[in-house]
Amino acid sequence: MPPVIGIDLGTTNSLVAVMRDGEPVVVADERGRKLVPSVISVGERDVMLVGDLARHRMVAAHDRTVFSVKRFMGRSIEDVREELALLPFAVTGEESGPVRIRLFDRDYTPPELSAFILRELKRRAEAFLGGEVKQAVITVPAYFNDAQRQATKAAGFIAGLQVLRIVNEPTAAALAYGLSNRDSGVVAVFDFGGGTFDISILRIEDGVFHVLSTNGDTHLGGDDIDQALMRRLLSRVEEGFRSDPEVLQALREEAEAAKRRLSEEEETAFLASVPGKIDLRLPLTRAELEEIMRPIVDRTREPCERALADAGLRREEIDEVLLVGGSTRIPMVRRLVREVLGREPRAEIDPDEVVAKGAAVQGDILAGGTTDLLLLDVTPLSLGIEGFGGVMNVLIPRNSTIPASVTESYTTAVDGQTAVVIHVLQGEREIAAENRSLARFQLPVDPMPAGLPRIEVEFLIDADGILNVTARDLRTGKGQTVEVVPSHGLTEEEILAMVEEGIEHGEEDMARRFLVEARTELDIVLNAARKAVAQAREAGLAEERIEKYGQQIAWLAEEREGDDHARMRLALKLFNEQTRDVAAAIMERTVKMALAGRKLEEA
Ligand code: AMP
Repeated sequence: MPPVIGIDLGTTNSLVAVMRDGEPVVVADERGRKLVPSVISVGERDVMLVGDLARHRMVAAHDRTVFSVKRFMGRSIEDVREELALLPFAVTGEESGPVRIRLFDRDYTPPELSAFILRELKRRAEAFLGGEVKQAVITVPAYFNDAQRQATKAAGFIAGLQVLRIVNEPTAAALAYGLSNRDSGVVAVFDFGGGTFDISILRIEDGVFHVLSTNGDTHLGGDDIDQALMRRLLSRVEEGFRSDPEVLQALREEAEAAKRRLSEEEETAFLASVPGKIDLRLPLTRAELEEIMRPIVDRTREPCERALADAGLRREEIDEVLLVGGSTRIPMVRRLVREVLGREPRAEIDPDEVVAKGAAVQGDILAGGTTDLLLLDVTPLSLGIEGFGGVMNVLIPRNSTIPASVTESYTTAVDGQTAVVIHVLQGEREIAAENRSLARFQLPVDPMPAGLPRIEVEFLIDADGILNVTARDLRTGKGQTVEVVPSHGLTEEEILAMVEEGIEHGEEDMARRFLVEARTELDIVLNAARKAVAQAREAGLAEERIEKYGQQIAWLAEEREGDDHARMRLALKLFNEQTRDVAAAIMERTVKMALAGRKLEEA
């Protein structure tokens, strides 16, 4: 059974866990360190340094070192404007394309940079397991969107890992605690790390996890506490050295270390010295630190309350509270959790390791080791059919859990149509022709005016990923079914490429789709208007008006040939306004006739 490793790819630190004798264990490096700082630095002769080696260069080689890459995964330059002001490295990118991060003399995409960290984790796991590792489960925050998840998958791919599943971090924490074995329950996961704070509320139902709500602050964490403590101590430093990088680095490091010691002890000695610049020695108590960090810790309160409100729950309805992230070791943080979420939080599993361990548990399930947990799979690409004008109509969106089934109703676009073509497609593009064609078949329909036939299309995808498409004419009851295996013949690479293309062409595809839709709408109106000419005459409209109506139709038909969907819609609106009198006359006659008909019936 080839191993599937579990990876927590974090903003500040990353970890890898594997299964040993049925238990997840976090892999340490040769020196016993389990956390790999998520930092990358270009060293001598362009050697890439990752983790602790890179972190130590953050000050001395700041122009050759990047960190917090997770903040840029799957984002465009527009998305990350806020981050840019806070981080020291150069980030570029076209408006809606992925960003590039400048590292020394080259630009990298975020997945390329994350891949350096993943390679290091892969290497550690291989050294520990004594064999090659090819497959992984990687965790992401519950609020990550599709592009961010895909970027994470791409990072794995670049690092030579097949990413079997992207798992939400809070779900991984719950898996590590074995909570999927509960039949049902509500779990709150309080994740307070170095740079980010997340609160997630999950509902477990029959071993399936649903994220009910998430909230948090992407710029709140232990680093803020270190900063606050550091600023307080800066007053003890001679003015001339207050912005000296070496002094600041020494203060920051000791601030973090003292903060950690005060999670265990009531009092500590703050010691920071840089020969010739500073030599600080002073006592620091937990009470003093708490006073400094209270405003920071308090900022976790409101997101928790909002998450509860969004989930529509009272805190009494939470069954378990789990702690994730190094900063949840702080006693003051635990007091707040108890108070706000109303439960004693669980912390038996090291809060730094719990997410990676959960990822390893999920990996083991996928590898076939643990079988008592429900295995859920998702569709890697959207499935749908070709609609009017060649657009893609999605029935089962990408990432839907399978089995799944969806039914939608359609009708015809042309009068007297005797058959409809059901063209089954797979992919993320808005235009049918740009997607992968899976099947195409014809369904005969009874000829009728456009818009009247009712055709039902059902997509049913079973647990093995086999898709059954059934189309049925509801009037005649006649139907047809085809069966396809959507993932057949597609490699992971091809799936990734298709998803990336979807993101890349998103805007241009949308414009094409709008155009097609506007044209289709104009066609329907033109079709009806041409028929209405005769009806207008029967309704007794002046010949002059009917002639004008003909000109108005011709004008709209001309507009239909344009390539600006907004202009087309405007034309349609104008046409409708300017021909309202014709429509009203026809309507009046129809109503009169209907009433006359009723009278006849009654008589
Ligand atoms: P993470 O992002 O989960 O790796 O969390 C790292 C953060 O947790 C850093 O800000 C650390 O300073 C903080 N941290 C780790 N251990 C402790 C501790 N014992 N007491 C207080 N903070 C800690």
